[in-house]
Amino acid sequence: MTEDLEHQHRLNCSVIVTTWRRPVLLRATLAALLRQCYTDFEIVVVCDGPDADVSNLARQFQDESRVRWCFHSVNRGLPAARNTGAREAKGDVVLFLDDDVIADPDLVSMHMRHHQQAQSGRRLAVTSLVAEDRQTQLSTYLDERLHNHWKTVLESTSEILSAAGPDPIGDQFQSMACFGLNCSIRRDVFLAHGGFNEHFRASDEESELGIRLYLGGVEFIFEPRVLLTHKNAKNLTQYFRSCWKASGSLDVYRVLELGQKNAQTRRLVSMFHGYRADRLVARMQWHFSSALCNASQWAERAANRSRSPKLFGIWGRTARAGEYWTGVKASSCTLNQLKSAAGSSRCALMLHSLSAPMSREEATYYLSPRRFKQMMRWFVTAGYKAATLSQWLEDNLPEKRILITFDDGYDDLYDRFLPLAIEHNLTAVIFLVADHIGGSNIFDQKTGLRARKLLTWSQIREMQKYGIEFGSHTLSHPNLPDVSDEQLRREVRDSKHRLEDALGAEVTSFAYPYGGVDRRVRSAVAEAGYKLAFTTLPGVNWWNDPLTQRRADVNENTTLLDFAFQLRTGYGFTQTFSERLRSLERDLPTSLLRAAAGALRRFGHHAVHLGRGRKQPAATPEDAPAE
Ligand SMILES: [Zn+2]
Repeated sequence: MTEDLEHQHRLNCSVIVTTWRRPVLLRATLAALLRQCYTDFEIVVVCDGPDADVSNLARQFQDESRVRWCFHSVNRGLPAARNTGAREAKGDVVLFLDDDVIADPDLVSMHMRHHQQAQSGRRLAVTSLVAEDRQTQLSTYLDERLHNHWKTVLESTSEILSAAGPDPIGDQFQSMACFGLNCSIRRDVFLAHGGFNEHFRASDEESELGIRLYLGGVEFIFEPRVLLTHKNAKNLTQYFRSCWKASGSLDVYRVLELGQKNAQTRRLVSMFHGYRADRLVARMQWHFSSALCNASQWAERAANRSRSPKLFGIWGRTARAGEYWTGVKASSCTLNQLKSAAGSSRCALMLHSLSAPMSREEATYYLSPRRFKQMMRWFVTAGYKAATLSQWLEDNLPEKRILITFDDGYDDLYDRFLPLAIEHNLTAVIFLVADHIGGSNIFDQKTGLRARKLLTWSQIREMQKYGIEFGSHTLSHPNLPDVSDEQLRREVRDSKHRLEDALGAEVTSFAYPYGGVDRRVRSAVAEAGYKLAFTTLPGVNWWNDPLTQRRADVNENTTLLDFAFQLRTGYGFTQTFSERLRSLERDLPTSLLRAAAGALRRFGHHAVHLGRGRKQPAATPEDAPAE
């Protein structure tokens, strides 16, 4: 009943326009806003400092009841002005604009359509792009190229975000997560996340808030229609240079002061992570940043004289690297500080049942106890240790600490993992299906696996005494992207509460059944209060999203060699090389070399699949599960 009422309630919008010393542009911005089709909205103009012309304009608009005016007594910067607007706003939703943009009559209604359609409780950030309308002539060749380049960036961003459709999650989206101009959000959600960080006056305030909202579980919705035009009069060469430099020092602030280690700030520690060649390049850029700046000045003059696209490319690379690392050094941080901030990558293993597989299908999930024993012996001999969840969450995980996880909670773990865990001082996290504890894996029957028993509460409590930890794998093991909003919330939140009540301990981790996650699922997991959530994607974790952590899949098809590689790279032996070749395919300088790397990768992939096809899983009587 209350939900119905909420659905009928038409949401109000507050459009927040920030301005300072640009009364002519502001007048045009307001005129366009007053022609909107959507009627339930107000305009809050925030003037960021004393400004007689804007005060005059305010008097001219005094009969327009939809426009309200606020003035800062001193200039405090764009983020502060936007925060003031949001605090003063009366609408349910806030939409941020600047004073140099012209809105299409549908702008507010297109934003509000998304918020209005969302079920109550869902938290959306609606983002859209802006078309560029050049106000002054592009005076140099570099400015022309940058203008066109920016247009291409906008188009490709729109393509990526539109193609991502309902699921913009993962590392690529994280680095693009951005919230600011032409973006709207429920006002209470904006305020609950602390709004814009007012330290970010020079640049990057939109990406900084974007990633905080994303990590906080806000769902990003992309509106592909371009409904806003930006009147641009900037000198682009100078603008890009100053943004790159500001990003350098702001990244230092983000990583060292705010602890924001994520896809957006990775560049700062590129000297310590990734492929050797990339690390070397980053190190050279750090050492020779001022030489790079000088070289870019030369390239700028030469490119403008010759109008050469090659020289434009050289300018872009040298100026970006030079300015960025100059900005980093200007914040007087040292190589040692960066090195310790970089930390190490983390590897998690994903296992299911420890029993001999009886079919090819089962061999991709199960692992025979004999082979598991071999692997664990090797694990311990090679100096690896099992990490606990709290160690995993710590900033500097010691080297060779691996998180071992088991999905579904099969009862063979009690007989086949616990004794080994005690013998070798190992631990693990077991993800339980809360509705089926003490029952069987009926959720797996449709995938062709045999019925197997799941752990009982008394076995779970016994294992808990030995330090084994438990996470949630939902109530009933559905593929979460397929379930309704209401079932989703139940599966995620109620399973957590039920396990916590029975275990008497907080449940901080979650595993997505079948690895099924999209932005709606991820958002529900964030809202339920989980700190870590695991997918079934391979690879190691390093500064990536805590709610889409990767795991290396260990099963009967995993050889000891694969296992050794998994502990280092998160991928098996052939997977590791295929990943390397994939990155070479992307980064090699000539198309011929890229094509060669691609061919090699496809050949390897083909060979492995032929090999796998012939292999039959071996089952010995000793391994056969007792059923
Ligand atoms: Zn599962």
